[in-house]
Amino acid sequence: MPVTCRLCSRPAEVEGLCAACALRAVRAARRQDKRARLAEVPKSPLDDRLLWPSEVAMRLRVDRTTVYRLLKAGKLRGVRVGRRVQVKLSSLEAFLVKNRTRQV
Ligand SMILES: [Zn+2]
Repeated sequence: MPVTCRLCSRPAEVEGLCAACALRAVRAARRQDKRARLAEVPKSPLDDRLLWPSEVAMRLRVDRTTVYRLLKAGKLRGVRVGRRVQVKLSSLEAFLVKNRTRQV
């Protein structure tokens, strides 16, 4: 006996669906993907982790004074929080990307 579509009574062709319902399912999935993409909100600065210079130093395997030197020279972007400076994780990432060597 012929298999019928699980959504309507037409004969099924792909995965238990008729051609029309299969096409509708594909389109619905595509719309869902698009909706998910549009729902991605731009990252807020508040989502960024803040690192202390000592943490940056550990991560870069340099002395803490090197981190302060980079901050003072403007090579590494910091965030002043009161009297202390912290570094956003994205700033550290930007620093690492910017200072990549072309060749070693
Ligand atoms: Zn159908």
